[in-house]
Amino acid sequence: MYFTSEPEHITMLRETVRRFAKKELTDDKLRAWDKACEVPMDVFHRFAETGACGVTIDEEYGGSGRDLVAAVAIIDELARYGAAIAGPFIHCAFYGGVNISENGSLKQKQELLPKLARGELLMAYGLSEPNVGGDLAAVETTAKLSEDKNTVTINGTKRWCTAARIADYVICLVRSDDESKKYKNLSMVMVPLDTPGIDIVDLDHIGLRYAKTTDVIFTDVEISADHILGGIDGWNKGWNMLASEALDVEKLEITGVALGVATAAVEDAWAYSQERKQFGKPISSHQSVRHDLVEARTKLQACRHMLYHAAFLAQNRLPCSVETSMAKLFVGDTALDIVLKCQQVMGAYGCVSEYAMERHVRDIMVMPIVGGSSKIQKNNIAGRLRLP
Ligand SMILES: Cc1cc2nc3c(=O)[nH]c(=O)nc-3n(C[C@H](O)[C@H](O)[C@H](O)COP(=O)(O)OP(=O)(O)OC[C@H]3O[C@@H](n4cnc5c(N)ncnc54)[C@H](O)[C@@H]3O)c2cc1C
Repeated sequence: MYFTSEPEHITMLRETVRRFAKKELTDDKLRAWDKACEVPMDVFHRFAETGACGVTIDEEYGGSGRDLVAAVAIIDELARYGAAIAGPFIHCAFYGGVNISENGSLKQKQELLPKLARGELLMAYGLSEPNVGGDLAAVETTAKLSEDKNTVTINGTKRWCTAARIADYVICLVRSDDESKKYKNLSMVMVPLDTPGIDIVDLDHIGLRYAKTTDVIFTDVEISADHILGGIDGWNKGWNMLASEALDVEKLEITGVALGVATAAVEDAWAYSQERKQFGKPISSHQSVRHDLVEARTKLQACRHMLYHAAFLAQNRLPCSVETSMAKLFVGDTALDIVLKCQQVMGAYGCVSEYAMERHVRDIMVMPIVGGSSKIQKNNIAGRLRLP
């Protein structure tokens, strides 16, 4: 494995994101949005005007060409300001752009990708359920195809559906065939969130408060079969869609948030330690504080290498299930460790909402859990490496 300088177009993209963030994502706004658990969508739409949402979408559909390393760099930069815009960006460019580019029918690509490239659509993700966490293939929400194959009727409850209140569609993993074997009885459906029969119930949660996370309850919800991901040919092929590129890329996108949040925490603690004086000198001069800060920066560097290496493999369509799982596992756990150390450096000031550190702590707490927990990543890696 060799390392070279970052491609120039990604460095430029980072500068664009930084300029936007400096102007739009000020501390007072971030604090208010986090408290309300809601980010005004006009801020996201102004961000989309930079063209960033097209980074996962081919040029023929209005994007700038699939570039997963650039997409991860955008998340990494945005997440230094928390999940406020990183969250909606993921719902658009990843849940929408990556999923539909990879698994959508021609009709779905033509209809949805240009809107996603412009940042005009958000997709929520409905994988988890009240009885389903790590074992996704055990989903209980049912989808029945009508005899004429024109409509699909959905019943069940999706849990932790983040941003369902602001998204246009929820992409759900559903049980579409009771007869077949596990993994071959699942489909992905894109349900417009204004369809009759859908109830949305808010869940109160810590961390990633760019939007409410919710239960989405389906009671005899009828949608056109055009909303099966991949069209009618995608029926009962949902697991393959999920377990292929989509899951690898989901690991990258969450890991990007963890890296961005941890980077912000290190920067904040680094600056604070030079301003805060105790025992007649800046606390950065006390050896144990210095060591904590340097350890945090060193771990951060390791996290960065793991993430961008995995993103490089995914971008080049090289086998990367092990590397994306390792990145999710290592960065998720290490970022939590880094942020908690940085909070300690800031003492009591790391525990009050006037300082962003308190939000970094809440955001990072969920990283080893969401998108496949650390333990599930360990199982994935052991399985992929054929550990008996
Ligand atoms: C803020 C937030 C936002 C979220 N947003 C979304 C979203 O938008 N869409 C969505 O679908 N989901 C979302 N989730 C759900 C998230 O992805 C799940 O919480 C996650 O997959 C873990 O599932 P669980 O919490 O049910 O844990 P469980 O699967 O019940 O696991 C509980 C514990 O047991 C361990 N465990 C379980 N099985 C094994 C095993 N085989 N081996 C070893 N250990 C095991 C787990 O690691 C964990 O520590 C969100 C969650 C949160 C907190």
